[in-house]
Amino acid sequence: MRIGFIGIGAMGKPMALNLLKAGHDLYVFDVVAAAVADMVAQGAKACQSPKELAQAAEAIITMLPNSKIVEATLTGETGLLAGGNAGQVIIDMSSVAAGSTRQMAKLAAAKGIGYVDAPVSGGVVGAAAGTLTIMVGGELENVKRVEPILQCMGKKIHHVGGVGAGDAMKAVNNLLLGANMAAVAEALVLGVKSGLDPQMMLEIIKGSSGNSYALEAKTANFILKNQFAAGFAIDLQYKDLELATETAKSLSIPLPMATLAQQIFEMARAKGYGREDISAVIKLWEEMAGVEVRAEENK
Ligand code: NAD
Repeated sequence: MRIGFIGIGAMGKPMALNLLKAGHDLYVFDVVAAAVADMVAQGAKACQSPKELAQAAEAIITMLPNSKIVEATLTGETGLLAGGNAGQVIIDMSSVAAGSTRQMAKLAAAKGIGYVDAPVSGGVVGAAAGTLTIMVGGELENVKRVEPILQCMGKKIHHVGGVGAGDAMKAVNNLLLGANMAAVAEALVLGVKSGLDPQMMLEIIKGSSGNSYALEAKTANFILKNQFAAGFAIDLQYKDLELATETAKSLSIPLPMATLAQQIFEMARAKGYGREDISAVIKLWEEMAGVEVRAEENK
């Protein structure tokens, strides 16, 4: 199948590579020329704009930072919708606002183009392994059409409701990731300040009631190694907590945990850690406590 892919970033690149591996013809676009060149070297074809990509592809995937960028990619003179044709389908796999997704789906429908939101969980490791969890919102007919494409990138594919429902599900998941990550950071610093060994804490918590994905995925490979290159950037986690808190405001639901977690990630952004991995949030506590949570060999 001719598949277009826009957004060759930390997640988009390994996801696009899995589509190539599965034998699809891949058309790519990104504002970073080096990201496109890298994919061309692996067998993809470069497009000069979303419009050109829509003219070439049957199905189009977007994996972009936020709603504004997804909207800009679809609309305008060089946007996807300017080049798209009836019968195509757009799969937005970015983590974005459900309301914006529903608007984009309406614009696409006016041209006879199907629209599915399919945000993912599983990180760069899951993207590379093709084992992502994918939360799909859309009309059943469109979801059925895109399922074989999604299966090249993910192992657990859930149709959770109409257009926008995938985004709503992802906001719920990432509220928990953000709150858990902040809690892991402060707990590990408390432990080190109390004289406990970080590696030992990790092993014990992994088999105890305090365990979480944030602890398992981010302690050994990031914090203990003193390796904070994203991964999943603090700016993106902040944006995801904003998606949860904004939705909650419109529904009159208090979200004290998410709001506090968002403020903690805002503090990390203010310190200049926005492009670093979410695990770098631990530096806030490390700086205040005067300790570092690192494996002995990485001190
Ligand atoms: P990233 O910043 O690494 O990649 C985004 C890519 O989009 C970059 O290559 C960038 O150049 C490109 N881009 C930006 N503006 C563009 C435009 N106008 N036109 C074309 N390309 C443009 O981000 P990421 O970590 O790959 O995340 C992408 C999405 O997936 C985000 O919505 C994020 O919240 C979500 N997500 C990320 C992870 C993770 O672990 N990194 C996990 C699940 C979901």
